[in-house]
Amino acid sequence: MFARAVIFLGPPGAGKGTQAKLVASRFNVPHLSTGDMLRDNVSRGTELGLLAKPVMERGELVSDALVLRMVEERIARPDCRNGFVFDGFPRTVAQAEALDGILAKQGIGAPAVIYFNVAEDVLMRRLTGRRTCKACGEIYNIYDRPPKVDGRCDADGGELVQRADDKPEVIRERLAAYDRQTKTLVDYYRSQGVLHEVDGAASMEAVTASVFGALSKFEARA
Ligand code: AMP
Repeated sequence: MFARAVIFLGPPGAGKGTQAKLVASRFNVPHLSTGDMLRDNVSRGTELGLLAKPVMERGELVSDALVLRMVEERIARPDCRNGFVFDGFPRTVAQAEALDGILAKQGIGAPAVIYFNVAEDVLMRRLTGRRTCKACGEIYNIYDRPPKVDGRCDADGGELVQRADDKPEVIRERLAAYDRQTKTLVDYYRSQGVLHEVDGAASMEAVTASVFGALSKFEARA
C-alpha cells in the first residue's frame, strides 16, 4: 500500500484534480477535493455553503476553521480507512499543521506530497480553457484537451460547464492567494523530506507517469 495520505500541492490550474482522480481510482481510495466539497455545499445551500460562497466568488481562501472541520468530518468516514488523496488541501500552514496532528492522532504516517510546478502563463491557459462535465466531473480543456463534441462530455454526453471562479479577474486573485498563503507549503513539506516535484507543464501522460513514479518511491520507502 502507498502512503495513506497523498497530497496534491500546486497552484490553481496545475492539473492536480485530473491526476488526483487517477491516483485515487488506481488505489481505490477517495479523492478529496476541498474545492469540490465546498462547491457541493454551495449548491446545496448548507450553512457552510452560505459562508463559503462569497469568499469563493472573490477567489480568496475559505477560513481554516471551516475547511478543517469539513475535512476532519470527511476523513473520519469508513471509506477513508485505507487512505485518501487530497486535492487542494492543505492550503495554509495552519491547515498543514492541523493535518499533521490529525494524521498523528489516527496513527497515519507522514503524507506523500506531490508538488506541481507550473509557470503562470500555462496556468492562465489551463484555467480559462477548463470545462467540467456537470454529470461526472470529468475535466476538459477547450485548447489542450477538447471534447469530441463541442460542449459535451465524451464519457456520458453531460453538459460541460465553466466554473464560476474561472473568470480572468477571479483567476488573478486565486493565483495571488496561492502566492500569499499556499506557496510556503512547498518549503514546509520539503523540509519534512516528503515532497516530490513534478513538471506540471508536461503532457498529461508524462505528468501521470511522474506522479506514479513518485508514489512508488514513497511505497518503496514505507
Ligand atoms: P479549488 O477547486 O481547489 O480551486 O478551490 C476553489 C475555491 O474553494 C478556492 O478558491 C477557495 O476559495 C476554496 N477552497 C478550496 N480548498 C480550500 C482550502 N483548503 N482552504 C481554503 N479555501 C479553499
